[in-house]
Amino acid sequence: MTPGEHAEAVIESLGISSVEELDVEAIAFDAGVEVVYEQLSGCEATLVGVGDRAIATINPSSYRGRERFSVAHELGHWTLHRGRSFRCRVDAVEDNFSSSTALEKEADTFASHLLMPASLFHEALRGVDRPNFKQLSDVAQRFETSLTATALRLVGVDTLPVIIACYSKAGLRWQAAAKHVPRRWYLKDTVDEDSFAYDLLYEGKECRILGKQSADAWFTNSDADRYEVFEQCVRLRGDEVLVLLYLADSKMLSAGFDPTVGNRKYNEHGSYLAPRGRR
Ligand SMILES: [Zn+2]
Repeated sequence: MTPGEHAEAVIESLGISSVEELDVEAIAFDAGVEVVYEQLSGCEATLVGVGDRAIATINPSSYRGRERFSVAHELGHWTLHRGRSFRCRVDAVEDNFSSSTALEKEADTFASHLLMPASLFHEALRGVDRPNFKQLSDVAQRFETSLTATALRLVGVDTLPVIIACYSKAGLRWQAAAKHVPRRWYLKDTVDEDSFAYDLLYEGKECRILGKQSADAWFTNSDADRYEVFEQCVRLRGDEVLVLLYLADSKMLSAGFDPTVGNRKYNEHGSYLAPRGRR
């Protein structure tokens, strides 16, 4: 079972069938994990287990989405990595998302499925065919999750042709694309001056709606100028913007391998190649 399947199985075994029933402390308690909120230094959450009981200590936050994610993350460690203790920096999903630790990523995936189980998430997204941040933040509010975690879950369920990316002025921090979006589309390392993200990042100009944009503002591919995408962005903490790209043009989804983009992560057979100098 994958970490996501583990989490979905927990939800199913508890018979949870509505968003309101996603009480993460109760779910943890049922699994033998007592949740304690206590100021921690140097980390956001810890897990200490003895036998079949464990205590998850969570740094209190005024932001409930963060606390919930931390609890679900520790429960992920308890379910997937029993027998070990953890000190985690689960203060923001994006930090772990860019973390290289496999166990942290597994706990994050578990948390994301536990807090947004597939069936309930699909239900919440019913009727959404061209997603925007307003809709995503409504969904995030319902599930009490962060906007970033919710956007990443949207990518994970792979129902819509979306790419989520985080940029700062220093460049691309991380990205995630729905599985059915071809890996040939290669994001630029820094935000393009023509993008709405640039306006937000450098001029503080809000990007209230999903707007049409030439694909060559986003992708390095030489044929990108033949296509249009939809773009919206929001500011995250500090000097970062979260970008949502919606690939409405089905031709972009059937475009073949592009050998012209440099420093690729995938070869023409779709095999993963270790990235060089780029995450
Ligand atoms: Zn962890």
